[in-house]
Amino acid sequence: MIRDIEKIVITRGAISDRVRAIGEAITSNLINVDDEQEIVLVAVMTGSLIFVADLMRHLPMKIRIQLMTASSYIGKSTQSNNDPMIGKLPDVKGRHVLLVDDILDSGKTLTRIRQELEEMQPKSIQSCVLLRKKIDSAMDVPCEYVGFEIEDEFVVGYGLDHDGYYRNFPDIGVICP
Ligand code: 5GP
Ligand code: MG
Repeated sequence: MIRDIEKIVITRGAISDRVRAIGEAITSNLINVDDEQEIVLVAVMTGSLIFVADLMRHLPMKIRIQLMTASSYIGKSTQSNNDPMIGKLPDVKGRHVLLVDDILDSGKTLTRIRQELEEMQPKSIQSCVLLRKKIDSAMDVPCEYVGFEIEDEFVVGYGLDHDGYYRNFPDIGVICP
């Protein structure tokens, strides 16, 4: 697997430091949200698998995790397809929601999920992604917490896949063409 990685873009150490800092930022914004209210953390699978597992351990408040699925790639493609497939969403009416995904690219996935969640009238909603590509479509999507801004290239590792592989690679990198 490691032989397929052309270059490392973000090391595991840098990821770990940044995830801790995001957790602290979320905590200072949400911890006093209102005393009895818990947070519903909606995690977009499968790309956010490792991110969410690490991030939640830096969130000391009362949290319920809800997993949902979305996919915008077909097979071995490295191009988002136009219409992401969105799985069943949890009921978030009257709840405080933290929406977590791996990466903002075309922005279609996060935009659609957030819209559908907003229609359920949550008490509040904030989005958090580990990575955002430095392209207009990604920069235009409202997102309260962003881990890293990266160049417009296809990355794998730390949960992100290519054709289902490389999710277990601990750093974030680019695969050989
Ligand atoms: P968007 O809807 O913003 O175009 O794409 C979002 C989804 O596409 C992400 O949640 C992620 O699963 C996938 N994606 C977008 N860019 C990349 C990338 O560079 N690498 C990988 N592995 N997945 C990506
Ligand atoms: Mg995804």
